[in-house]
Amino acid sequence: MWAGGYLAPCSRRYNLDDMEPRTISVKGAREHNLQNVSLALPRGRLICFTGVSGSGKSSFAFDTLFAEGQRRYLESLSSYARQFLGQLAKPDVDQISGLSPSICIQQKSAGWNPRSTVGTITQIHDYLRVLFARAGHQHCPRCGRPISAQSREQIVARILELPSGSAVLILAPVIRGQKGEHRDLFEDLIKQGYARARVDGSVVSLSEAPALARHVRHDIEVVVDRITISESVRPRIAEAVENALKLGDGTLIAHIVSPDNPARDSRAAGSSQREPANRRRAPGPEESKRAATARRAGGKLKRSASNGGEDILLSSDYACVRCGLSFESPSPQLFSFNSPVGMCFTCEGLGTSFDFDPELLVPNPRKSFFNLAIEPMRTRIGRWRRHIYRGVAAHVGFDLKTPWGRLPAKAKNTLLYGLGDTHVTYEWRWSGGVYRHGGPFPGVIAELREKHRKAGSNFVRAYYEKYMRKAVCPDCNGGRLNVQARAVRVGGLNINEVCALSIVRAAEFFENISFTRTERLIADDVCREIRGRLKFLCDVGLDYLTLDRSAPTLSGGESQRIRLASQIGAGLVGVLYILDEPSIGLHARDNQRLLDSLCRLRDMGNTVIVVEHDEQTMRVADEIVDFGPGPGVRGGKVVAQGDFDKIMASRRSLTGKYLRGEEEIEIPAQRRPVRPEAKAKA
Ligand SMILES: [Zn+2]
Ligand SMILES: [Zn+2]
Repeated sequence: MWAGGYLAPCSRRYNLDDMEPRTISVKGAREHNLQNVSLALPRGRLICFTGVSGSGKSSFAFDTLFAEGQRRYLESLSSYARQFLGQLAKPDVDQISGLSPSICIQQKSAGWNPRSTVGTITQIHDYLRVLFARAGHQHCPRCGRPISAQSREQIVARILELPSGSAVLILAPVIRGQKGEHRDLFEDLIKQGYARARVDGSVVSLSEAPALARHVRHDIEVVVDRITISESVRPRIAEAVENALKLGDGTLIAHIVSPDNPARDSRAAGSSQREPANRRRAPGPEESKRAATARRAGGKLKRSASNGGEDILLSSDYACVRCGLSFESPSPQLFSFNSPVGMCFTCEGLGTSFDFDPELLVPNPRKSFFNLAIEPMRTRIGRWRRHIYRGVAAHVGFDLKTPWGRLPAKAKNTLLYGLGDTHVTYEWRWSGGVYRHGGPFPGVIAELREKHRKAGSNFVRAYYEKYMRKAVCPDCNGGRLNVQARAVRVGGLNINEVCALSIVRAAEFFENISFTRTERLIADDVCREIRGRLKFLCDVGLDYLTLDRSAPTLSGGESQRIRLASQIGAGLVGVLYILDEPSIGLHARDNQRLLDSLCRLRDMGNTVIVVEHDEQTMRVADEIVDFGPGPGVRGGKVVAQGDFDKIMASRRSLTGKYLRGEEEIEIPAQRRPVRPEAKAKA
């Protein structure tokens, strides 16, 4: 666990204080093998602790200084907060004075969320989301053309294009995928004169609105008007559109009431009366705000009709006039695969899908469909299902007795994946004649998914999973974001493409990017933050990583340097940083950059202690403390302290001998972790 985060707010107290002690003074440290060590360390310097493995340098740095810093920090919290954090043992030391809040930056890759990436842990991704939402250019996911705003007149014209005589509900979306009971909202709407709303797909009267489950996400759309299309209703449509756009914060839904299934719309359909006149009041700031929040919280590109009819989403902001597709205006959530707004609809933001694999489903392609070529269908297909499949085969034109392997691809696809929205007519023959009925055909895989989902036992679930395979999501190709998010570009790239750039390339990209004058109002600040963070990452030698690199795959040194870059970015002062052998695994060039970063941290007004064997580090350090002389019981003392020349000249110091080339120091193969008790127990 990285302890840095919660120290930030209190750090300023230690800043620029003339009364502040110039040294950290330690008296009588006896942790582990330390032999009553007393030491004064200059504050605001880069200090290198060195010595052979087991000489006590880590015991002093981590188990004494850092442990005491952490303990004091916890002590400073309220007793309420402390009860959750537990107590830390006091290190075995007589006295420490001049200690600052301490942050330990260790070589540990554990502790990142498996979904984290370099972009998310450095917060660059958060800035990118804001940038894409506020300065991104939406393109149509279908035809790729830039999206322009739709005028009210265009929206009215689009509704008037619907077949004459069709009944249309003009709905204003006010709650989109938000949890809550929303009772206040219903009351508000009644006060504004609205009588009905569509709640989770069903039109209800607001005065008899159902009690909504608080922990479930709901969709609420106000019924602004119900109109039967004809040229004469144009003024009424215009008025309804005007009101709906106001209430829905720029978005409305024209719902075509299905002639097949009017039952669920009965309340609305039963009334051909106009809504009361007082509804025309413009929504107050309160309602608009609520609507805006709702809109940011949810929404999909195109929602399937929930009650048999069809929804047309129309927006005064974003729409492709050619394809007739409307979009909600982008919000930062649109660019988060963890948010229901931004996640890929197919894989729900996972990037992979675990689904039935046609190859596994049909182990023997010589069998016909009716002969159970699709193995997990298991039992003989009954008469009712046979007439359904026959209807499908007749609709597409193939023979169900053909061996599976010889069926055309279209037939296989139809049987497996269905026919989408297509209406298929089925014929049920019986002694009394032929009964015709119709409906969509969802396909065998949809049936199997349902069986897998509803499996009552692990045994049954495992049976279906034999036919399933994990694969890269075919919709987003592993990019996790939905089509709308992927169709927003900044500087010609979408957010996934930006995250796939290496950090050095991303830095170039943000160096050369240009914006219009209005975009710059937001983009300038955001880009400055992004550029700064990218530069810190380059400075610590991580320019080769990509922003979408998954955090758990980073090496210990890489994650340590990311933490270091974040610390430089955080700009704290008066902090004691303790680092554990940061030079490990670095090339000389990168090591120099790392040392530059450490010096920067120092120059910002911090004390930096590095536990290190590396000669280059010792040369840069302001002060070196050499622990020893030997490991274990032969160590635990300070052998020499001073600058590089002083250590090199020291007759007693083993490090001195090594620096003079008289002796070689063995570099330990394994590093010791910080004493576990030194971490707060949650
Ligand atoms: Zn288009
Ligand atoms: Zn996907």
